[in-house]
Amino acid sequence: MRQTERTAIVLRYANYRDNDRMLTLFSPTQGRIEALARGCRKPRSPILNASELFALGDFELYQKGAHLTVISAQLIETFYPLRADFDRLSVGTYLLNVAENVIQPGAPAQELFMLLLHTLSRLTFSDQPWRPLVAGFLLHLSACEGFQPRLQHCVHCERRLTESESTWFDHAGGGLVCHDCHTKAHVPVSAAQARWMRTMLQAGSASWVDSPEMIAPFALLRAYVETRLDKPVRAAAMLPRD
Ligand SMILES: [Zn+2]
Repeated sequence: MRQTERTAIVLRYANYRDNDRMLTLFSPTQGRIEALARGCRKPRSPILNASELFALGDFELYQKGAHLTVISAQLIETFYPLRADFDRLSVGTYLLNVAENVIQPGAPAQELFMLLLHTLSRLTFSDQPWRPLVAGFLLHLSACEGFQPRLQHCVHCERRLTESESTWFDHAGGGLVCHDCHTKAHVPVSAAQARWMRTMLQAGSASWVDSPEMIAPFALLRAYVETRLDKPVRAAAMLPRD
């Protein structure tokens, strides 16, 4: 029996008994944590707000055997304005689902945690369009998880690609393909899209690039990342359509 305090964000919950919830938390130092929030659905529960999706806080956890229970929680951020915009709420839920898909119990994921918080903050508190935001999240996530797409050289013939040439994307090969190597199975990538991906990776996950010469390939990165995940992303069907 011991108590620990963990900074974490609520990725998911499952209602349990009359007033309880099983929370799936993402901790930067401990990865995925399942913890029981007892009585959290009672209106006066002190952990009511900390048991909602997107709740970021310092969770005090009590461990007995393999089971963790939330004793108290100090809220840091609730990303509350997301709830007022159905499209952005769906996008936010998609981000939580993708993060849940890649983190493991006991495995630290500091970089991914910060990436998730940065992206949720922009989604909630800025009016940046959501597609480039999610594209940036997915691109940086692929780098965190070790499958960053290769963008400088053709993944087939290894020729160095120029800034201005048209390229194609090979999902299985994990990167760009030149004009000579591409087949019908590959997805066309414009020079502006390739430039956006290269610039974003160079700039790092905390920065943001925006210029008319660069276009975020949202559909491409979504397909690329989703095919690399172990299971389907549940909220994908909720993403707003064009
Ligand atoms: Zn080639």
